[in-house]
Amino acid sequence: MLTQIADNIYRKVVPLPNNPLREINAYIITGEKNLLIDTGFNRPECEEALRNAFDELGIEKTDVFITHLHSDHCGLVPKFAKEESIIYSGETDGELMNFEAGNLYWKILDDMFLKFGFPKAEFGRNTDIHPGRKYVHDCKIDFTYVAEGDVLEYGGYKLKAVETPGHTPGHMCLYDEEKKILFCGDHILGTITPNITIELSADNPLQDYLDSLAKVEKLDVKMLLTAHGTPVENMYDRIKELYKHHEDRLAEAVYILGDQWKTPYEVARDMTWEIECRNWEEFPAPQKWFATGEAISHLQYLYYSGKISREERNSIYYYHK
Ligand SMILES: [Zn+2]
Repeated sequence: MLTQIADNIYRKVVPLPNNPLREINAYIITGEKNLLIDTGFNRPECEEALRNAFDELGIEKTDVFITHLHSDHCGLVPKFAKEESIIYSGETDGELMNFEAGNLYWKILDDMFLKFGFPKAEFGRNTDIHPGRKYVHDCKIDFTYVAEGDVLEYGGYKLKAVETPGHTPGHMCLYDEEKKILFCGDHILGTITPNITIELSADNPLQDYLDSLAKVEKLDVKMLLTAHGTPVENMYDRIKELYKHHEDRLAEAVYILGDQWKTPYEVARDMTWEIECRNWEEFPAPQKWFATGEAISHLQYLYYSGKISREERNSIYYYHK
């Protein structure tokens, strides 16, 4: 489905087959030169959907802006960027995107998860079917890096880059101050809570995320264009809900620790998840991975705030109230 959102701005809903997210919203800004914001996975269903949108709009060439490193956002860049296209991203995620096209990135991430208690026995299953690995772009991308405050002009809009680390270490939004439009990638989502997890170069991602929410809360936004799900009517209300969600999660993590030393994996197992499984053992493998990532980000936040302790035993982190 291709929908016009505002003058020269279109939203294309790109399917993400067999993925709990179901769809991604790619945005296309038309004009003298065009800009595509986020792409979909590197798989044929996504490519076809995006090609249809380009045909419908009569577009052949486009520049591309990638909000962050996840493969549902950047997987198709090499297929849509022509030689003369400019491909923008923040430097932190740009570097990671080019790193994640190789195996070393995943090896380092695996080692990090082992350190946070993810059992080796779960690994084969997880690493093989992790969608991030399967549908990532397969070559290096020649990015043009944008930094805080840089302005991109497309379709009559002046889009200012706003760094919003948290969901990923180099997540970036685009903001038109005059039109009060914010392209927010996965920083704020309406229907789900953005996944906050450990990443290479982000040791306390929840702190980063909460700081970035506070930063965006100060902007005057009338139209919030999210990368997944239906539009968010009121950004400020949604931000309040997200604060509350993380407050509750932090309290839950402390409660689950009780008076024992536990790994993030063990805490994740006991947290409440909105997923239709009878128990942890039934969780699909990638969901265990995401859940553990969430537990890590909350425990690390508590640890760095001085509210809980952390100890390393046999190369694995344990946390205690
Ligand atoms: Zn994402």
